[in-house]
Amino acid sequence: LQVEDYIRKKFAEYYMRNSYRIKPPPQMEKREYGFILFKEKMMIRHKSFGNVEELKSFIENVAPSDAYHSAAYYLKPEEDMEKKGWLGADLIFDLDADHIETPCKKQHDKWVCENCGTSGKGQAPENCPACQQMKIKEEAWLCEQCLEKAKDETIKLIDMLISDFGLAQNQMSIHFSGHRGYHLHVRSEEVIGLSESERREIVDYILGTGLDPVFHGLLVKKGKTESLTGPELTDPGWRGRLARGVYEILTKAEEIELMKFGLTKSAARKIVEKRDELTVNWLKKIEWGSLSGVGFKAWRKIAEKAVTNKSARIDTVVTTDIHRLIRLTETLNGKTGLRVLEVKDKNLEAFDPFKEALAFEGEETIYIKEAPQFRLGEETYGPYQKQKKELPAAAALLLICKGKAVPVNE
Ligand SMILES: [Zn+2]
Ligand SMILES: [Zn+2]
Repeated sequence: LQVEDYIRKKFAEYYMRNSYRIKPPPQMEKREYGFILFKEKMMIRHKSFGNVEELKSFIENVAPSDAYHSAAYYLKPEEDMEKKGWLGADLIFDLDADHIETPCKKQHDKWVCENCGTSGKGQAPENCPACQQMKIKEEAWLCEQCLEKAKDETIKLIDMLISDFGLAQNQMSIHFSGHRGYHLHVRSEEVIGLSESERREIVDYILGTGLDPVFHGLLVKKGKTESLTGPELTDPGWRGRLARGVYEILTKAEEIELMKFGLTKSAARKIVEKRDELTVNWLKKIEWGSLSGVGFKAWRKIAEKAVTNKSARIDTVVTTDIHRLIRLTETLNGKTGLRVLEVKDKNLEAFDPFKEALAFEGEETIYIKEAPQFRLGEETYGPYQKQKKELPAAAALLLICKGKAVPVNE
């Protein structure tokens, strides 16, 4: 509890100086707001604010651990859910390392079963493998590789929204979540009225769920001799995406990876040997039928892998839930002490969350139980093991919020 009081005090100081930064969503008076308080991690929601000044002074006074607003617009946002009068909702996408597979999670993520104490490394299972209970406590670290992967997924999503859905860049805003990922908000008239099932269809499209390559041009033509045809790199929508995904696999994969698609060793070797030629020629036209020993079954497997690679790993629930609360821009994330930020000029490629999202200034002395190596700004810290240390406040707060360190009273 002492640690919580300490973090709350720091958050309060931050908001006293920086609440001017808080950026409410458009039509802020039609939104529901929710907050997680430091005290017992209690959630308060169904709040509404008529203007930005009211919102700022509420946050200054309460200094919440986390602050959210609804993706939805309501007639009466402060009423109970059934009386709110839903008017529509922004289309929201969540791209978070929690839902994206990264190899580094095995090194930096941990979980413990609060029922029986079984623990493990990597992504937490839903049920405890020992006692089957669902009381798993996760200890997820925010790491650069994970955030880079989340960024890549966001870039793929933006490409799909623009080239397949016809949305414009200026109809979306990209936000760093303050922890392990990015949020994308689409606020255009075309999407605001979409129902849950309509949003579900968009999710399925973006994930490539149930996409059958046969319906996207991969065909065996029966004639005197069997011939195989498929989509071209420049085809629109999933056809071209599928072709580009296949091209990337065949021009990059090692022999052993190709064999996983059911190719024989000699067929896989031939592809690797012909690689330079294939890389150049297939840019002009994919010769689907030209690879000996690659039958329709193998093609199908390769195409399915291409779909997985080219899809954007969005969180299904966040997009389909039309009553969802999403983090408020320029508030602090209680898991890290980092700022929730809008990515400026939509230049995601150049965005560095470990530099731009820092909130705290000055120095703090802390006792670090255990922490992996991490970077903030230009500086690399750790790894640490059972030591007292004076660190820049942003680094100190990150470790304290993550439960890896405690403040030292001097
Ligand atoms: Zn257990
Ligand atoms: Zn990672």
